[in-house]
Amino acid sequence: MSGVRLLCLSYLGLLAAYHTHAETTIAVPSAEKNRPAAAAEPRITFNLVHVDGPYIAMTFDDGPSATLTPKLLDLLAAHHIKATFFVIGENVAEHSEIVERAAHEGHEIGNHSWSHPNFAKMSDEGVRRELRRTEDAIKSAIGARPTLLRPPYGSLTARQKRWIHDEFGYQIILWDVDPLDWKRPGPAVVRNRILKETRPGSIVLSHDIHPGTIEAMPRTFDQLEAKGFKFVTVSELIRMARPEPSKERAKVPAANDTPQPTSTISLPSPSG
Ligand SMILES: [Zn+2]
Repeated sequence: MSGVRLLCLSYLGLLAAYHTHAETTIAVPSAEKNRPAAAAEPRITFNLVHVDGPYIAMTFDDGPSATLTPKLLDLLAAHHIKATFFVIGENVAEHSEIVERAAHEGHEIGNHSWSHPNFAKMSDEGVRRELRRTEDAIKSAIGARPTLLRPPYGSLTARQKRWIHDEFGYQIILWDVDPLDWKRPGPAVVRNRILKETRPGSIVLSHDIHPGTIEAMPRTFDQLEAKGFKFVTVSELIRMARPEPSKERAKVPAANDTPQPTSTISLPSPSG
């Protein structure tokens, strides 16, 4: 076997480990052996991303808000931080100039539905209408279509994920850090929760429609920066994805040590 082919196969193995997390042995079916690594099935859903550096993605949902989002944009600009906004179509239609500004300043805009319903309880046609209408509103605001979807409440069935990805090309973005800011626990609690839970590759969920969240951000950003974190958009974070370290693959799990693949976690939660 040539070195190049060996390298290619090991890469496939790494990719497979990356996609499944829970797998301990990598079996490459014989028919697949000659396939280039790039043909591996792309991952659709992300709670967090395995990266080599101290990179994280701050995400802000449910806006734009006429007053709070511009305030947040000023703050992000002062810190040279790029964030990702999962916007509600209804709000985009009302304040398209804010979405335009966010995109112009380098932030990413993702689809978060038209009216924030629970997709898991809706018909395909209803979901399709919500997504299409919001996509059109974003496109007319920023001149480009979104490539990311965060379903409201993080609620989406496995079947919906597949057809939405096939039809819209969206990557489904959940989160691993949730300060529960929608309960309005106060800026200090929001900040402390984010600081405690954030690690390299984290996708941090917050909402730019709550005053306390915006109040929490100056010190949150200061302290995340002091810890050495670097801020990128969700799509940038995904482009930095690295296979899981090899020790993960070699690890033999105990009977009750069977981590769920992050790609299938989509528990409905009051957040998002
Ligand atoms: Zn939401």
